[in-house]
Amino acid sequence: MSSLSDPVISINGLGGKTSERLNQIGIYSLENLLFHLPNRYQDKTQITPLSAAKVDDEILVELSIDRLEEVPTRQRQLLCYLSDNNNQKLLIRFFHFNQYQKQAFVRGEYIQCFGEIKIGRSGLEMHHPEYRLISQEQTPLLDSTLTPVYPLTAGITQNKIKLWVGHALETLRATVINDYFERIAKTTMPNLKDSLYLLHHPRKGEDLTSISNFKHIAQQRLIIEELAAHQLNLLLIKARRKTQKSSIFSIHDNLPNQLMESLDFRLTSAQLRCIGEINQDMSSPQPMLRLLQGDVGSGKTIVAVFTLLQAVGNNFQTAIMAPTEILAQQHLQSFTSYLDHLGIKVAFLSGSQNTEERRMQINLIASGKAQIVIGTHALFQESVSFNNLGLVIIDEQHKFGVHQRLSLVQKAKKVPHQLVMTATPIPRSLTMSAYADLDTSVIDELPPGRQKIETIALSNNRRDEVVERIKKVCTEGKQIYWVCTLIEESEELRAESAEKTYSYLSKKLEGIKVVMIHGRLNKVEKEIIIQDFANGKINVLVATTVIEVGLNVLNASLMIVENAERLGLAQLHQLRGRVGRGSEKSVCVLMYQSPLSDSAKQRLDILRHSNDGFVIAQKDLELRGPGEVLGTQQTGIADMKIASIVRDAYLLKQAGYYASQMLEAGDKDQHSLINRWIDSDKSHYANA
Ligand code: ADP
Ligand code: MG
Repeated sequence: MSSLSDPVISINGLGGKTSERLNQIGIYSLENLLFHLPNRYQDKTQITPLSAAKVDDEILVELSIDRLEEVPTRQRQLLCYLSDNNNQKLLIRFFHFNQYQKQAFVRGEYIQCFGEIKIGRSGLEMHHPEYRLISQEQTPLLDSTLTPVYPLTAGITQNKIKLWVGHALETLRATVINDYFERIAKTTMPNLKDSLYLLHHPRKGEDLTSISNFKHIAQQRLIIEELAAHQLNLLLIKARRKTQKSSIFSIHDNLPNQLMESLDFRLTSAQLRCIGEINQDMSSPQPMLRLLQGDVGSGKTIVAVFTLLQAVGNNFQTAIMAPTEILAQQHLQSFTSYLDHLGIKVAFLSGSQNTEERRMQINLIASGKAQIVIGTHALFQESVSFNNLGLVIIDEQHKFGVHQRLSLVQKAKKVPHQLVMTATPIPRSLTMSAYADLDTSVIDELPPGRQKIETIALSNNRRDEVVERIKKVCTEGKQIYWVCTLIEESEELRAESAEKTYSYLSKKLEGIKVVMIHGRLNKVEKEIIIQDFANGKINVLVATTVIEVGLNVLNASLMIVENAERLGLAQLHQLRGRVGRGSEKSVCVLMYQSPLSDSAKQRLDILRHSNDGFVIAQKDLELRGPGEVLGTQQTGIADMKIASIVRDAYLLKQAGYYASQMLEAGDKDQHSLINRWIDSDKSHYANA
């Protein structure tokens, strides 16, 4: 008696090499074979009369053989003329054939052919149909269920995989499936067994259109189960985390009030809500792990500042980690501007410091003199030890690569609270699926008075018009970013391209102060330029994408992005967020090199039509799929067996309901569900 957990090699006639090939596409066991679902079906359940045949249809016909002809052209062909009782004709054509085949086509005998109807010079044709010689007692093609067509991998044929899946289905027939999910889903959906049988061999007349749209109830059943399995997995990880103990912060008003008074604006109600949610987390004994999302310019930084004030008030240190050196520098500036006059000491650690500087900073951290530490990954190197780390704030750039970073918290005596800030918003369907293990706060409101940024796409050959526009903007006393986006391996090459643009602009813009900034300049040089730009001493700042994040110059009202077609949506949106910060109307010009690819055109169109980061993120997900948006070694939701986060987003709520029900189940039931859907090396990614 075989069991669903048996390895594929247990199948008769399936050898080691084949087993390896199957393993490579994720098929290890008979159960895995069950979830290797057809990607389409052939209808051999009825014989279609030639009078009803339509060109391009795949049909099964039964006809008699009239005559055979071999065409002696350079590429030989075998033509077999068939007809029905009404003398309607069909020609079948073979471009390769052997003598045995030729001899088998006997005049007057019956033949069944399955294939696509084409129109040839003298009427209907089929090329290389699948066929059976009925008069010679070959098994007819006519079948009682639709014929599955499986996705294949090198070295494996359709017939083989059909055979093995058949074996797995036989094994399934003899297996009782009565797990927890089956029991809670049973009243509303078909059961797992019936769903699988149906999808492998749909009965005659089954609604194939809904199957090809993934809207068949049997598919929905499996999709919901798969989504629920992934969510359950994440919820278990979350529950495990909640059993850990973190330090309880008591919430103080003193420092927050001081900061509030020093601000020249009032927090939006969304910011206040997020701060409240964060404080709630940190005042409980379980470690916080919260995602703070908000569109570009929504004011995440100040929320992070209010968060760390609670750590300071409770005598804990806060580590703020940025993904790049430049970002870390910018954080140093913006955080210090808030913290200095509150008398809070900030240390800074980065790869580019010399030994002496570094030793000094490390001492500040170890002694506890520094309450806040800002830096890159360098923060978590072994030589760095904290005096009393209680809060970690992680600032992510574009990829929503939240999970990889969660292992960086071992520096604390107790698990610290963690706040993860994302640079761009995450589509809701991803937070519900890939991030179900995190709590989320969303700043869903921009500070008042922000103007919509007008976005224009222009081909490179209209550069001169852009130069005219720059002149005009300058006479209005406004400033301009010109972003060079050449994606080159090295900063050297990037700088080179920026230099070309710079000399072009300098020549064209006489009397206007044009300055260039790029990664090859040293720290001091960069700082001076940024300062000068902020103080209005520079009209046009030509920059590589170093300016992408952080820069905050209210008077800049025009941005030109070169080669915008090479950048992704999230990055362009982030870049564009450098303008439109003041109350003045701003314009972003996306320059591109014609001809545009379809996908580049779509990206630029999306940006022209929307300023809303959440909308843009959702479109990005639809265009590129979760694998690309999340990065490849992410959570596993990128390569699900049947579900798709984009296509099936409408089922996520229901899946979430079942996932929360599954939390009540016993370990065994939970794990049988998770093991059915998630490779074991992926189910524990968050523990890494
Ligand atoms: P992001 O969410 O993109 O990181 P920042 O935190 O950099 O945004 O904030 C963008 C700008 O908005 C900063 O100049 C900040 O001082 C300002 N800002 C933040 N909150 C408010 C508010 N409630 N009202 C007005 N301006 C605000
Ligand atoms: Mg920011």
